[in-house]
Amino acid sequence: MSKSLYSKDLIKSQYWLDTPLADMSKEQWESICDGCAKCCLHKFIDDQSVNEEDDFAPTDVLREGEEILFTNIACHLLHTKTCACTSYEKRSTLVPDCVTLTKENLESIFYMPKSCSYRRLHEGRGLASWHPLLNKGKKAKMHESRISVRGRTVNEHDILYDEFEDYVVTWPENDID
Ligand code: SF4
Ligand code: SF4
Repeated sequence: MSKSLYSKDLIKSQYWLDTPLADMSKEQWESICDGCAKCCLHKFIDDQSVNEEDDFAPTDVLREGEEILFTNIACHLLHTKTCACTSYEKRSTLVPDCVTLTKENLESIFYMPKSCSYRRLHEGRGLASWHPLLNKGKKAKMHESRISVRGRTVNEHDILYDEFEDYVVTWPENDID
């Protein structure tokens, strides 16, 4: 999850309409993040054909027949109401698995939910009507539209690893527009 900044000047410029992701400044890039926190949910790749021992192996591609399954299990550093990271500056140290999407690792976009605003722009779908940049920098419409994870998660420290599959959910793949 990026650190979201929605300055008035950026909002007014509507830079996302004509600036490719690759050409965005740091501030422009970070403001594309809608703050939904879906990327702070645990997920795994479902593929019945892989070997048991490979089940939880890291991957950087999605192969044919594989599917990403989201759970509602959230990183322990997520603030479940604001959907913000409570240790944003130290997240990479505290949570080594935390993936921050950058211009350099855009190929990892397949990990992101369909509503992820980076993915939407990458796929030419534009920003959704609920995005804070289209709502005076406010996240209220995103929360009201049930795009964010607010109020729908369990803390990773409160569940047993063996029960992981009991928490698979489909709502993270929902999108509007
Ligand atoms: S899923 Fe995408 S838009 Fe949503 S918080 Fe994560 S990086 Fe930001
Ligand atoms: S450390 Fe956890 S809460 Fe913070 S951005 Fe990464 S996954 Fe999200």
